[in-house]
Amino acid sequence: MASYDYDLITLGAGSGGVRASRVAASQYGARVAIVESSRVGGTCVMRGCVPKKLLVYGAHVAEELEDAVGYGWTVDGARHDWGALIANKNTELQRLEGVYHRLLRDAGVTLLEGRGRIVDPHTVEVDGKTYTAGHILIAVGGRPILPDIPGIEHAITSNEALDLPARPDRIVIVGGGYIAVEFAGIFNALGSRVTEAIRAGQILRGFDEDVRSTLAAEMEKKGIRIRRECQIQSIEKCEDGSLSLLNNCAEEMRADAVMYATGRAPNTEGLGLDAVGIETAQGGAVVVDQYSRTSVDSISAIGDVTDRVNLTPVAIKEGMAFVATVFGDTPTAVDYDAIPSAVFSQPPIGTVGLMEGEARTREPVDVYLSRFRPMKATLSGRDERAMMKLIVSRETDRVLGAHMVGADAPEIIQGIGIAMKAGATKAHFDATVGIHPTAAEEFVTMREPVPDPSFEHTE
Ligand code: NDP
Repeated sequence: MASYDYDLITLGAGSGGVRASRVAASQYGARVAIVESSRVGGTCVMRGCVPKKLLVYGAHVAEELEDAVGYGWTVDGARHDWGALIANKNTELQRLEGVYHRLLRDAGVTLLEGRGRIVDPHTVEVDGKTYTAGHILIAVGGRPILPDIPGIEHAITSNEALDLPARPDRIVIVGGGYIAVEFAGIFNALGSRVTEAIRAGQILRGFDEDVRSTLAAEMEKKGIRIRRECQIQSIEKCEDGSLSLLNNCAEEMRADAVMYATGRAPNTEGLGLDAVGIETAQGGAVVVDQYSRTSVDSISAIGDVTDRVNLTPVAIKEGMAFVATVFGDTPTAVDYDAIPSAVFSQPPIGTVGLMEGEARTREPVDVYLSRFRPMKATLSGRDERAMMKLIVSRETDRVLGAHMVGADAPEIIQGIGIAMKAGATKAHFDATVGIHPTAAEEFVTMREPVPDPSFEHTE
């Protein structure tokens, strides 16, 4: 048997790569090195989920302060210090980076700092030095992509938005996906005038229609201006330092910052994939089978670089399945069915399973929908509505989809996800006693399905 420097070299120390490396080393005794050119922790911990959620918490305090008045509090003089929020967030990221370093060290994983390039099926080059391994795992994640329009160099992405030295008074956010709506909520709550420019007719393509329209309405009530079917044609820097955006919606758009959240692409540039014959799809994603194996036997790939379901917990599951397959001798495939997810917009979204439109194309379904004013809004006087929805198979009574827009939706949907994974039927939901008074109890008290649109059409 060939002898290699390592049993495994992982490219990319993000959530998926770190987990796979640690488990391979600590549970299976593999000799592992991990290559990282930026900060250990990757997108989620350093430039995504974690710092974003900290900013979401910070932004939410603004609403809590407003709501406090109805509950008898006087909160005169409250002020927000953007610099303090960013500095505290950075301190927490530093702590987390230290934790990740320690986890790797404790597991006996060697960190190779630099950009890795695959030279042949068993060799990786890092900053001019070569290392060999029995297996190579590509876990390099993704990066934001921006369209090629004049003046795009003036735009920022979520990477820079998380670290702005000052909060912009006016910001235009381009895009209608997860990242765009989350940042629109953050900046709006903290006092920026936010315009979200989307090229489609509605935000959040790929989500249930009621979720999309409910969130858009709530965002607009909070003062975010959503400009639909709006394409930005160019960005120009004005003499006063502000940015002027030429667009097709006949509106003068001026801003102090322009942020693009128009999707992400696999981070494969310069990785040497072509040289070793690793198959990629259009857009650059590494093509893998159900066990995360690429077209080259000794090389696997997990996480966003494979563009399957681009979520951190999924990358971690893929990493664990890879280790079980390769080092545990137990071929393990990830189950992608009914993955719960959230959008940390304001109010947030929680969703799991099929959307109504998708479900209706597959089988006859009943849809249960509830819209209500959250109890907290009574005394606070806030004009906010929550929405919950269940999609149920008429044939089997199984709950196929659950969606919510409203406070605590991500926390609530996590539990509903477990029920759905266990195959819960609507009868199970009905038999469950609600917790009163909560918003979550709506999920077990919805009794009447909404009228079936196909039935209405034939009448
Ligand atoms: P998305 O793919 O979700 O959304 C991209 C948005 O940009 C869409 O609204 C799209 O419009 C629009 N768009 C694309 N190209 C252009 C263009 N040239 N001009 C104008 N608009 C354009 O990408 P994100 O960047 O928001 O997020 C990337 C991924 O990160 C997500 O898929 C998600 O998996 C992950 N993520 C998850 C989060 C979570 O779980 N809470 C949070 C943040 C990110 P259209 O609809 O018309 O195509």
